[in-house]
Amino acid sequence: SGRGLETLRYGPMKPVGLENPRTGELPHAVVQLRKENRQGTLYNMVGFQTKLTQGEQQRIFRQLPGLGKAAFARFGSIHRNTFICAPELLLPTLQTRKNPQLLVAGQLSGVEGYVESTAMGLLAGINAARLQQKRKPLRPPPQTALGALITHLTESDPRHFQPSNVNFGLFPAWEQKVAKLLRGQIRAERSREAMREWVAGNRI
Ligand SMILES: Cc1cc2nc3c(=O)[nH]c(=O)nc-3n(C[C@H](O)[C@H](O)[C@H](O)COP(=O)(O)OP(=O)(O)OC[C@H]3O[C@@H](n4cnc5c(N)ncnc54)[C@H](O)[C@@H]3O)c2cc1C
Repeated sequence: SGRGLETLRYGPMKPVGLENPRTGELPHAVVQLRKENRQGTLYNMVGFQTKLTQGEQQRIFRQLPGLGKAAFARFGSIHRNTFICAPELLLPTLQTRKNPQLLVAGQLSGVEGYVESTAMGLLAGINAARLQQKRKPLRPPPQTALGALITHLTESDPRHFQPSNVNFGLFPAWEQKVAKLLRGQIRAERSREAMREWVAGNRI
C-alpha cells in the first residue's frame, strides 16, 4: 500500500476488543468472515476489496490460518458506486433541479455506506410525502449527520465530486477553538437539539 505497510491493519483488520481471554494476547490483525448463507457454507471476507489477480488472491488468502483448504466461490474486486453528480443536479431536499417532482434516494444520490444510503432514502421519502401533501420539502439542519451529508452532496465542487461516508469533516467548522476531547459530545448535543427543533417545527 502506498500509505505504508501497516495501513491495512488499522482498517477493517484492526483487532479491537479481540484480546484472547485465556492468554491476554492481542492478535496482530484479524480477518472478519461474514456469513453469507443460512447453511454457513459461504462467508465473505470483510474489507478485502482488491485489484490483485485471482491467482495471487488464492495464494495469499490460503496462507491465512484456517483458510488453507478454503474453496473460493468469488474473488475480491474493487466496487464502484453508481452515483450522480449531486452538486450539479440536486437540491438540498434531494429533488432534482430540473424536475422538482423527481427525488433521488440512496447511494445514487452520492453517499457511501448502508446507513448513509438509508438516511438519503428517509429524507427523499419524507420530502416525496410532503410534496404529495402540498407541503414544503425540507433541508435537514447542517449540524445533524443527515444535514452534513446534504452539505456534502450540494456544496462540494462538482468537478471533483466523490461519494462520502458520514464523517465529522462534513459538519460545520467550529466557530471557536474547542478541545478535541469535548468535540464529539458537543457535536452530538448540538445535533440532537437541532434535530428535535427540525422535527417539531416541521411536524415530521
Ligand atoms: C462489495 C460491497 C461491500 C460493501 N460493504 C459495505 C459495508 O461493509 N458497509 C457499508 O456501510 N456499506 C457497504 N457497501 C455499500 C452499500 O452496500 C451501499 O452503499 C448500499 O447498499 C446502497 O444502498 P441503496 O439502497 O442506495 O442501493 P442498493 O443496495 O444498490 O439498492 C438498489 C436496488 O435497486 C434495484 N434496482 C436497480 N435498478 C432497478 C430497476 N431498474 N428497477 C427496479 N429495481 C432496480 C437493485 O436490484 C437493488 O436492489 C458495500 C458495497 C459493496 C458493493
